Amino acid sequence: MTTTAADVTKPDFQGHRKHFIFTDEHQQLRESIRRFVIKELQPHSEEWEQQTFPNWVFQRMGELGFLGLDKPEEYGGQGGDYYSSLVLSEEIVHAHCGGLAMGLAVHTDMAMPPILAFGTEDQKQEWVVPAIKGEKILCLGITEPDAGSDVAGIKTRAVKDGNEYVINGSKTFITNGHRADVIVLVTKTDSDAGYDGFTLFLVPMDLPGVIREKKLEKLGMHASDTALLAFQDVRVPDTAVLGQVGKGFYHIMWELQGERMIGAAGCVAGAQHVFDRTLEYAKERTAFGRSIGHFQVIRHKFAEMATKIETARQMVYTTAWRFQNGEYPVREISMAKLYAARIAVEVADECIQIHGGNGYMKEYGVERVWRDMRLNRIGAGTDEIMLDVIGRSYGL
Ligand SMILES: Cc1cc2nc3c(=O)[nH]c(=O)nc-3n(C[C@H](O)[C@H](O)[C@H](O)COP(=O)(O)OP(=O)(O)OC[C@H]3O[C@@H](n4cnc5c(N)ncnc54)[C@H](O)[C@@H]3O)c2cc1C
Repeated sequence: MTTTAADVTKPDFQGHRKHFIFTDEHQQLRESIRRFVIKELQPHSEEWEQQTFPNWVFQRMGELGFLGLDKPEEYGGQGGDYYSSLVLSEEIVHAHCGGLAMGLAVHTDMAMPPILAFGTEDQKQEWVVPAIKGEKILCLGITEPDAGSDVAGIKTRAVKDGNEYVINGSKTFITNGHRADVIVLVTKTDSDAGYDGFTLFLVPMDLPGVIREKKLEKLGMHASDTALLAFQDVRVPDTAVLGQVGKGFYHIMWELQGERMIGAAGCVAGAQHVFDRTLEYAKERTAFGRSIGHFQVIRHKFAEMATKIETARQMVYTTAWRFQNGEYPVREISMAKLYAARIAVEVADECIQIHGGNGYMKEYGVERVWRDMRLNRIGAGTDEIMLDVIGRSYGL
């Protein structure tokens, strides 16, 4: 077949949106995750909004190999690249369940990476291997009632006592906190050592003194469980230290970069998904004798949203490419997280507007997207903290 100049210049708006970071294998993975999510998870979306998603989701996704896509094969992972993790975060939006996406991401992309990066072989065998199978559930404890953005201000203490440490303190807003088998816990081991006084621990959640105090009620992300936890004289052996004693602050700052990356990717995916659903709606809904999408003002809303989503997507993919290639681009990760979270909330808000009164109704699910998305401007580092990280990166 010969290609004419006319063919070349003809715009193809239906064209496949495959970015250069993705291969055909990623595409196949994408299709198989999407099939699974639509068939096995999406039908439960409403039920899980009422009562949080059940633990069998971890087991089922473990069986399918979806909890260790980018994790080493020696621990049961698929040995894929970082982009395979992005694929999961993009496809999980088809579950229509932000809380589920968050619970899974905490497990695979927030709590698991520090164990793989800093853990001993025994710790990886004990926690990562069953976590990838979906048999053990992980959570991550940084935030406390009196310290969130100011991580260095945490009060949870771990005091050495012979071959053990004794932990006292509390953590709040902990995703998976009620269901988790183990927590990656940020503590202070030396109050006088500044940033060198923090240590991470792997604390089994069934130890005496670990108290799951309260299930917290939230604006959105209802399908996730969010816990207030207390640690009262919890004794752990010194083999529970994760990474180096005194280096916990640096370990957790490293972890936060992956957390922000995957959060940004989820925001783009969530924004795209609600955009697509709203586009269908705007084509079908009529007013004044035409579909509402044909009013210029509505058409321009879609144009604005699409441009923002595409911008955020390019930031996420380019930053992910650098991440995959061994760079540690804190500034750009912060920019991607900030921008993607902001536009996801804006897009969800605009989609409610385009739905009119229906957008305000639970039945259409758009208000739920807004409620779920709103978290992203707070969790994993607020907008203000992202701006501060970016600003400081210029020496200010
Ligand atoms: C649903 C949900 C799930 C979460 N899951 C987890 C989890 O699994 N594990 C975990 O450890 N944490 C979790 N978090 C906690 C989350 O990361 C924190 O809420 C977030 O980091 C903000 O901390 P904070 O709530 O203490 O707010 P604060 O730090 O008290 O901030 C309050 C306000 O002050 C602003 N501010 C603070 N410092 C500065 C500054 N230096 N400059 C400018 N403005 C500033 C903030 O931007 C914000 O607007 C979760 C939170 C929620 C809501």
